[in-house]
Amino acid sequence: MGTLRSKNPATGEVIGEVAVTAPADIPAIVARARAAQPAWAALGLEGRAEKLRPLAKLIRDQLAELASLLTREMGKPLREAKGEIQSVADGLEHELGEIAAALAPEELDDGRTRSTIFHDPFGVCAAITPWNFPLAMPHWMIFPALAAGNAVVIKPSEETPLIAQAYADLVRQCVPDDILIVVHGDEAQGKALVLSDVDLIAFTGSRAAGKHIMAAAAGSLKRVILELGGKDPLVVLPDADVDKAASFAARNSFRNAGQVCVSTERIYVDRAIADRFLAKLVDETKAWKTGDGLDESTKVGPMINDRQRDHVVRQIEDAVAHGAKLVAGGAKRGAFIEPTVLTNVDAAMDISKEETFGPVACVTVVDGADEAVRLANDSPYGLGAVVFGGASATEVARRLTAGMVGINQGVYGARGTPWVGARESGYSFHSSRDGHRNFTQTRVLSRPR
Ligand code: NAD
Repeated sequence: MGTLRSKNPATGEVIGEVAVTAPADIPAIVARARAAQPAWAALGLEGRAEKLRPLAKLIRDQLAELASLLTREMGKPLREAKGEIQSVADGLEHELGEIAAALAPEELDDGRTRSTIFHDPFGVCAAITPWNFPLAMPHWMIFPALAAGNAVVIKPSEETPLIAQAYADLVRQCVPDDILIVVHGDEAQGKALVLSDVDLIAFTGSRAAGKHIMAAAAGSLKRVILELGGKDPLVVLPDADVDKAASFAARNSFRNAGQVCVSTERIYVDRAIADRFLAKLVDETKAWKTGDGLDESTKVGPMINDRQRDHVVRQIEDAVAHGAKLVAGGAKRGAFIEPTVLTNVDAAMDISKEETFGPVACVTVVDGADEAVRLANDSPYGLGAVVFGGASATEVARRLTAGMVGINQGVYGARGTPWVGARESGYSFHSSRDGHRNFTQTRVLSRPR
C-alpha cells in the first residue's frame, strides 16, 4: 500500500515515514481487536487502571524527544509542544480516578425494586483524530475508551502519523497485544474504519467529516462521539479590563497559529472601549513572532500545509475586498502567515461564517450587549465562547449558545468538566463523569426487593 511521508511544515524536510494500511485490511484488524477485548474487559476497572497508570511516567521519561518530534512534525513552538505532552502526563492520575468513579456500578432502590446500573464497555472503539494537538487528541479518545474496557483502533491524522505512533507505542507497553492498534492513512482509511465492525466511533476533526461519519454510522446505528470545529466569539463588554481582554484576544487568536478548535475567530467589542481595545490588540500583535517552532523566540509556527495556508490567505483577501480593514500583519511568507488583525468585519463575510483556523483576529464594533449576543450566536457552530466584562458578564455568558463559555478567561477544559460542543460543533462529548460514560453501554439489572 506504500508509505506516508511526514514532513516538517516549517522546512518541508521529510522527517520520517509510516506504512499505510490498506483499507481492505481494516476489517481483519478490527477483528483482532475484538478478539482481544473480552480479556481486557475482564480485568475490571482497577485491573485496567493498574496497567494504564505507568503511562504517565513513560510519557515523562520521553518528554524531550516527544516534544521535539511534535514540533518538527506539526510546527507548533517547542514550549507549547512540551505543554501539550506534559498536561497529558500530569492529568492522567486524576483522569483514572474520575473514570473509576464515573463507571462504578450504582445501586438504586425505589421501595419495590432493587436495581444496579452498570457502565459496560462497548467492545471496539474507533478513534479518528486531527493534527492540531497530535498527541493530546489521540489521548483524549484512546485513554477513556481503554480505561472503560474497550479495545481501540486509532487512525491518526495523515499530517502527524509519527507523533501519534510514538504515543500509541507507549500506551501499547501498558496494554495486552491488540488492545490498541494503529492504522495509518487518510480519509480513505478513516472511512473504511467507520464502516468496519466497530461499536463506537470517537472522532475529533472538521464539521464536514463529522457529518459524513454520522451519516455512515447510521446504517448500523453505531455510537458516535463527534468533537468538531468552531467559530468561537469573544465578547468584550464596556466594563471589561481592556488590557487583559486585548492580551487574551491576541493569545487566543494567534496561539498554535490559530489552529485551535477553540481559537477566538470573531471579536465583538463595545463601541465605548473599541479604540483602546484595538490599539492594545495591535500593540500585542507585534510580540507574536513567526518562525520555526524549534527556535526559542518563535510564538507562531507554520501553517500545517499549503491548503490550510491558502484557505486563510483567501479569507483575509476576501474580507478586505468586502470592506474589512487590515490593521496589522496579513503577509504570507512560505508556510507562515503573519498574525493579522482585521477591523470593520461584518457578518456577511466568509471570514465571519466559515472556520478560519489561522492567526487572524477579526474585530467588529457593536453597540451594546444585545447586539454582541445576537452576532455571537449567529453561527451554526457552538463550540466555545468567551466574555470579558464586569458585573453583567455572567448574564451575557448565559445567553451564548456555545457548549463551553469562559468569563474573563479562555475555555481550557478545566478538570472535571466536559469538553462539549453545542449545535454543529459536536454530537455527544468526552471528559467529565458524563463524558467518560459515553464510552460505555449503560445497562440496568433489576430484581424484586
Ligand atoms: P479533518 O476532519 O480533515 O480530519 C480529521 C481526521 O479524520 C483525520 O484523521 C482524517 O484523515 C479523518 N477523516 C477525514 N474525513 C473523514 C471521513 N469522511 N471519514 C472518516 N475519517 C475522515 O480535520 P483536521 O483538518 O485534521 O482537523 C482540523 C479540524 O478539527 C478543525 O475543524 C478543528 O476545529 C477540529 N478540531 C476540533 C476539536 C474539538 O475538540 N472540538 C479539537 C481539535 C480539532
